[in-house]
Amino acid sequence: MRAGADARREGGRAARADRDACRRRWPDAADFVAELAETVVYLHADQFFPGWTILVLKRHATELFDLRSEERARLLEEVSQAARDVHDAFGAVKVNYALFGNQLPHVHWHGIPRLASDPAPRRSVWEVPQEAVTLSATARTERIGRLRLHLAPSSRRRR
Ligand SMILES: [Zn+2]
Repeated sequence: MRAGADARREGGRAARADRDACRRRWPDAADFVAELAETVVYLHADQFFPGWTILVLKRHATELFDLRSEERARLLEEVSQAARDVHDAFGAVKVNYALFGNQLPHVHWHGIPRLASDPAPRRSVWEVPQEAVTLSATARTERIGRLRLHLAPSSRRRR
């Protein structure tokens, strides 16, 4: 069955991607922003949507329902605070949240600030035709620095 073989191949790719997430080899260390209580924060490699941020759960879990309720509550609180920081850092009009995990089965959130300059403010980011935007090292450092500045006070609040 070709469909079965394709599904197995896709499953193998997802498992390899997850091992990278579990060992903190994904996302790339150059995109590291901050370590919070429950998650590690990275700038998304593709910055077509400026400020797109990823929060990766520190421990391995595939589904939200696999977390104990207190852990899930802490995670959601952290994601929510980080989203506010992303919002403030980039002057977003709206923040989008996404948790899929079918390509990479390890709980990670996308926090996507939608700015006033957004090319399609009413559409999902995955529907918007786009070319990947890779920043220069200087621009990336500036963007990460801006995010750290806003994340730092909320990290302190949590301690
Ligand atoms: Zn994992």
